[in-house]
Amino acid sequence: MDASTATATVLIVEDEPGIADILRITLKYNGFTVHSAATCKDALTSARRHRPDLVLLDVMLPDGSGWEVCRALREERAAEDDGSDLAVIFVTARDAPRDVVAGLALGGDDYITKPFGVDEVVARVHAVLRRTRRRPAGPSTRVLRHGDLEMDEGTYTVRRAGQPVELTPTEYNLLRHLLRNAGRILTKEQLLQHVWQYDTAVSSTVVETYISYLRRKLDRWGPPLIETRRGVGYGLLAQEGGGA
Ligand code: CA
Repeated sequence: MDASTATATVLIVEDEPGIADILRITLKYNGFTVHSAATCKDALTSARRHRPDLVLLDVMLPDGSGWEVCRALREERAAEDDGSDLAVIFVTARDAPRDVVAGLALGGDDYITKPFGVDEVVARVHAVLRRTRRRPAGPSTRVLRHGDLEMDEGTYTVRRAGQPVELTPTEYNLLRHLLRNAGRILTKEQLLQHVWQYDTAVSSTVVETYISYLRRKLDRWGPPLIETRRGVGYGLLAQEGGGA
């Protein structure tokens, strides 16, 4: 058991009773507070009432798709200026890469493909919570800067050229790891280990996918920031005079 994350509240959104039961029993056994919903409508109601730290979200639901639930929840939390502490793991039988990518793009932090093992679910829930749960702001918080990019670790805000940049928890953690290692190239394996906290079973294409999301969001406000070292990895390298 992981004492730092096992007190979290998890909302299970799943319309297949057998799978919902397995998830509920497993997560309760592992110390989580668990709520369940079987439709999009119930998921939104339950999320508002119980304020989960993490949502395990089935994609195919009777009254719509998990993608829509994820988007709605993210928008609600963002409107409350509280967007960085809701983690979403999609649970899906639809394992086509474009579906997975679509889910990640809509703000999922991870995905699990059916059929799954319960140990895998517990491990991924812990890993996602470790990287998405807020730590209280305190004297140890700081502002990381690179060129015109600024990350305030106390308020979880990112700005580029003074413009606010909205990031999902995973994007935030990836960028934070790049900022903390500015001036170095990090390999995809290093990023997978530090940001996703896996060393196996996850394709390194997830790193490429998230780097592309970060670029899309950051490069709206200035020249490209993240350098690709082909066949090796990525990094934030020293900027020469800010030329475009
Ligand atoms: Ca379903």
